[in-house]
Amino acid sequence: MSVLGLGRMGSALATALVGEGYEVTVWNRSEDKPTPANTTRVKTPEEAFKSDVVVTCLSTYDAQQPLLTNEIKTLVNLTSGTPEQARATARWAKDNGVEYVDGVIMAVPQQIGTPQARILFSGNENHHVLDAFGEPFHVGEDAGLAALYDLALLGIMWATFGGYLQAVALMGTEGIAPEQFTPMAADWLNELGAMLPEMGAETRSKSYETDVSALDINVSGLRMLTDANREQGLDTTIPQALHDLFERAQRSGHGAHSIASVIEEIRK
Ligand code: NDP
Repeated sequence: MSVLGLGRMGSALATALVGEGYEVTVWNRSEDKPTPANTTRVKTPEEAFKSDVVVTCLSTYDAQQPLLTNEIKTLVNLTSGTPEQARATARWAKDNGVEYVDGVIMAVPQQIGTPQARILFSGNENHHVLDAFGEPFHVGEDAGLAALYDLALLGIMWATFGGYLQAVALMGTEGIAPEQFTPMAADWLNELGAMLPEMGAETRSKSYETDVSALDINVSGLRMLTDANREQGLDTTIPQALHDLFERAQRSGHGAHSIASVIEEIRK
């Protein structure tokens, strides 16, 4: 087995392979990254391609693409990218006689090698090497699907973290510490998570009638949130962007509809 990339994630992957008893060769562009215990460090990617399986985990596809050659036998690509980048790499692999496994890692390096590390993979190929990293989960035959799931889930994460940090900053302007506020925020997130199935169903049926909360009232709320952040001396990028999007949906005639109707504006 070889691992290309000894960043935070690549190092964790190499260490997990060693833990499973594999002989592991590693390569990294810069020499300053430490060599994971019990691995063999090589100076060029080509030396790593002698292994039956090459696992790549570099920062981006742009970083990895120039390294790939048809000397590779099986490529297990765990670098994050867009669906189209994954499909292009799958096409390249097919054209060059390279076995190709496309995966994404839904975990932090500290979880690698535990059941908490979910590894989503797509395409026609599986490889048992993924078992060493966590819980593999096949999301479909199209090679771009793992990347699509990855970015969709990360989008929820970034939006949530952005909202949380804005809230912590807002509470902080009145001297309320994160420790005091965060348990309430975490409970709130659990409640919101429980609402997603119904919202998802509404986007599918496109029936947005509501007796819960109309878009009109949420647009007013987002205006208040934006004003409050400004009044308290904070950046308003996040609430303003949400306000503007929701308001556009309102102007398109969804004022009396549920929040789920905003998807019509997103899909435009
Ligand atoms: P790091 O920044 O820790 O490491 C980046 C790696 O990419 C390093 O090995 C770096 O080499 C290499 N690299 C960057 N540019 C080039 C280049 N032009 N040529 C050759 N090598 C290059 O990132 P992570 O390890 O955290 O992330 C790696 C991948 O894993 C990413 O695609 C990321 O999205 C994904 N991932 C990471 C998670 C995390 O929690 N860390 C979670 C899930 C997925 P050098 O040392 O020479 O700079």
